[in-house]
Amino acid sequence: MQLIIDNLSKTYDNGVKALQNVSLEIPKGMFGLLGPNGAGKSTLMRTIATLQDADQGTIVLDGLNVQSNKYAIRKVLGYLPQQFGVYPKMSAEVLLNHLAVLKGITSKTERHEIVTSLLHKTNLYEVRKQNLGGFSGGMKQRFGIAQALLNNPTLLIVDEPTAGLDPKERNRFYNLLSEIAEDTIVIFSTHIVEDIKELCNNMAIINKGQVVLKGKPLELIDALKGKVYQKNILRTELDYYKSEYKVINDKLFLGKPIIQVYNETPLGDGFVPVEAGLEDVYFSQINEY
Ligand code: ADP
Repeated sequence: MQLIIDNLSKTYDNGVKALQNVSLEIPKGMFGLLGPNGAGKSTLMRTIATLQDADQGTIVLDGLNVQSNKYAIRKVLGYLPQQFGVYPKMSAEVLLNHLAVLKGITSKTERHEIVTSLLHKTNLYEVRKQNLGGFSGGMKQRFGIAQALLNNPTLLIVDEPTAGLDPKERNRFYNLLSEIAEDTIVIFSTHIVEDIKELCNNMAIINKGQVVLKGKPLELIDALKGKVYQKNILRTELDYYKSEYKVINDKLFLGKPIIQVYNETPLGDGFVPVEAGLEDVYFSQINEY
């Protein structure tokens, strides 16, 4: 089970280069696509989901070319878009049943079995008779996953699923995704570093349409070991430090500015070494020096 993206590029009519020579190999499990807003994440996901075409490059799922086999790919694909609308006056059970008909599950018995099992899987069985309009953000997202799983996909694509969810709902949603990822390729995008940390076996950072880093989160963190330093500074010194050092992050600690710097060799001058985290990996790639 593998998705291979090779040299994918897309320029929109307005000249925006949304994807530039993107190449990724995505195995079974959770794959996190991390990048700031406008990086190209949705463009990439919509292209994999056969909803738009690239100008160049190929996407191959288990030997099948995605662009030239759209119909076949849709049969094994689940997709939860960033904006997922529901009919507010329908119950979860009725809408899921209706969507199952549209997905071609014509046998009533089979449909009932699938719908019931998905309502259980997404923890919505108890609220199946309630109208979707009254669902919380997390419940709506779980319903979104239930509909994406109707055809038992081998590839599940989820675009920024945790936006607007509170921590408890986010956790519940992560648990659901990682359970699905045990026998599915799950690609999900986010601009929240924390989302990736404990969840993904593999990840890529995308910025301005380009893959700037890819690998396993722990290995990427390891590569920064001994190269991240921290210092308390005065507010007025920030510009100086930004011009002299690779400042990957500046934040406030108890109201006082603190900077995090990337340096290949040990730093004196009041800097202390700190343990690198995934946030450092991310900002070291995203920030411009
Ligand atoms: P992300 O999902 O990472 O926020 P997108 O893929 O939505 O990024 O967008 C990548 C870039 O392409 C952005 O600069 C965005 O404004 C631009 N873009 C996205 N969709 C279109 C479109 N249909 N037409 C023109 N530009 C677009």
